[in-house]
Amino acid sequence: MNTKVEQKIVSPSAKAIYKASHQELQRLEQTMSFYKEESDVSLLNRYAGIKAITLSKETMAILQRAQDIASQSNGAFNPLLAPLIQLWKSAGIKNQLPTCDEIKSTLARCKPKNLVLDHNHGTAYLKQKGSMVDLGGIGKGLAADVCCDLYQKMGVTSAFVNLGGNVKTIGQHPDQKPWTVGLQHPDKPRGHCYGAILCSDLSVVTSGGYERYTEIDCIKYHHILDGRTGFPATSDLKSVTVLSESSMTADALSTAAFVMGLEKGVDFIYNSDALGGIFFTTSNEVYLTKGVRPYVKLLERLTCYEI
Ligand code: AMP
Ligand code: MG
Repeated sequence: MNTKVEQKIVSPSAKAIYKASHQELQRLEQTMSFYKEESDVSLLNRYAGIKAITLSKETMAILQRAQDIASQSNGAFNPLLAPLIQLWKSAGIKNQLPTCDEIKSTLARCKPKNLVLDHNHGTAYLKQKGSMVDLGGIGKGLAADVCCDLYQKMGVTSAFVNLGGNVKTIGQHPDQKPWTVGLQHPDKPRGHCYGAILCSDLSVVTSGGYERYTEIDCIKYHHILDGRTGFPATSDLKSVTVLSESSMTADALSTAAFVMGLEKGVDFIYNSDALGGIFFTTSNEVYLTKGVRPYVKLLERLTCYEI
């Protein structure tokens, strides 16, 4: 998954549980990765415009969830952006911005409706040749959920998993306090937190433009793209953090809300099944939805609004 994974498992069998979770993560990577040739995602992409592919229930479920969130967010979250992601990656390598024509023709292959799911037959089909699925905006959330399901099946009542900023907690910290999840300051070095979330049995996921980027002519173009413009999302936000029981939900919703911007993003989170969100704006103000207030501890003097 091209990310650092941190696990804290409180159990006399922690080592065995860690090993089992490692295997689960490898299994997920083998099925969901865009880059593994034999993954379900690669198979689906390879047969775009050719034929429907039979997939496991697990892959069908994540594709369905991704498609639902794409439709609820009016395409702000879009699991079919892979051709555009590739265009921006190669632009970075060539150190040359994509042309308007390139963006336009690429976007034609990125329509979420190109993905057709048939649950009766257990198949998925990409209608248009050149269309491709990329689960980068939701996959780490799924992986955190899978790890926590495994911990619980193995009797663990206290655990923490962090997949590159995608955190999920089970129960309480061993010292009988809630787990503490840091909120990365978008402009400061990694590990510098502007606040923290104190929580049990919750997932905390952040999407931000500062996380990963391509540089072209010394200008940074970040990794979260807007499928309506074809460019990296430019909103009034530096980051969005979403709290939800499901990490898969928090992952996809944080990406969507980041693309939408503050006003639409807040509405979207209120209308979702997430507990709420924390919005860090480009003017360095913090907006909290009502549901998250009891969990948030600010560590810096920032203007903070409940919205
Ligand atoms: P995240 O870090 O969860 O916000 O997701 C970012 C990753 O998801 C990127 O590295 C891309 O692989 C993919 N991605 C980029 N933009 C979007 C988008 N608008 N919707 C869904 N996935 C996206
Ligand atoms: Mg995400």
